[in-house]
Amino acid sequence: MILGPDVGFKMGFKDIRGHERVKKILKKSLQKKKIPNSMLFSGPEGVGKKGTAFVLAKAINCEQKKDDACDACSSCKAIDAGNHPDVMEIQPDGEVIKIEQMRTLRQIAYLKPMVGKKRIFIVDEAEKMTEEAANSLLKILEEPPLFSYIILVTQNPYLITSTIKSRCQILNFPPVSRQDIEKILIDRGYEEEKARVISLFVQGNLNKALNLDWDEVQAKREQAWELFHSLITKENLPFYLRNYAFSHRALVKEDWEQVMELVSSFCRDSILVKEKGKGSLLMNPDYEEKINKAERMVSLDWLMSCLRKIDHAVYGLRKNLNVNLLISAFFAHFKEWDYV
Ligand SMILES: [Zn+2]
Repeated sequence: MILGPDVGFKMGFKDIRGHERVKKILKKSLQKKKIPNSMLFSGPEGVGKKGTAFVLAKAINCEQKKDDACDACSSCKAIDAGNHPDVMEIQPDGEVIKIEQMRTLRQIAYLKPMVGKKRIFIVDEAEKMTEEAANSLLKILEEPPLFSYIILVTQNPYLITSTIKSRCQILNFPPVSRQDIEKILIDRGYEEEKARVISLFVQGNLNKALNLDWDEVQAKREQAWELFHSLITKENLPFYLRNYAFSHRALVKEDWEQVMELVSSFCRDSILVKEKGKGSLLMNPDYEEKINKAERMVSLDWLMSCLRKIDHAVYGLRKNLNVNLLISAFFAHFKEWDYV
């Protein structure tokens, strides 16, 4: 079991940032001893879904506390160390969660726990279950085991069948806001400018924000600036189209979303300069000179429209539309666009 920093190790509900609503619901269920047999933790990457699932697993089995993890008893410690026999994490085996994995879960789920009070199964990236695996899981949900809780964790709830969803209590974990990420980073000693740029870069993923390589961020920003500049000058668009739309890299979606977020920040800065003049409070103050030059080449209408097209592309990505089509459509707009 591999857990990233800030996830799982030595933490109770108080260590989970934000998500007050979710924590309140879970603590109440623990106090009343009415925890739903199956739950679905849904939300974007890196917001603390799996960490919360582990805290819940600890709280359910904790020898000291009733509605939280004490982090000191042998049960809490074993879960933190990843060797509690009654707490199991299921992850995709390669690209998918296979039926064999669900069969194993089914065999164990109806058995009494070995040492703890209850068995907990945390199914990570639950949307990757094959159809057969999902059917097998459904059978367990239809006959909830007495001694087990199943927590499904997913970034893509729309890829999980409604029959499964209808049998789970669904808890939504919203993305951490840009402002909150900025604040957390500043609290941790980051310079303000750096904190702001990083918060733009991570789409609400706090874990990522805390583990970013700054050189990588700078390289991505430069790349995004060049793309923004190309949209303005209409130069090199075929290059970008080839690079993004026809690329088969697995990471193209994340890559594109990041670049779009950064281009969007350059676009918003340009609007600000156009409306308020130089010296405005920019999101990218280190690009001020370049922004001043670039915004003069286009109208305010163009910038507003550009911003809408970026929003549209990002929205489509989050809805899981075809990335290549989205990107092709995005560039097609700019190619045909009358610029002044
Ligand atoms: Zn404990």
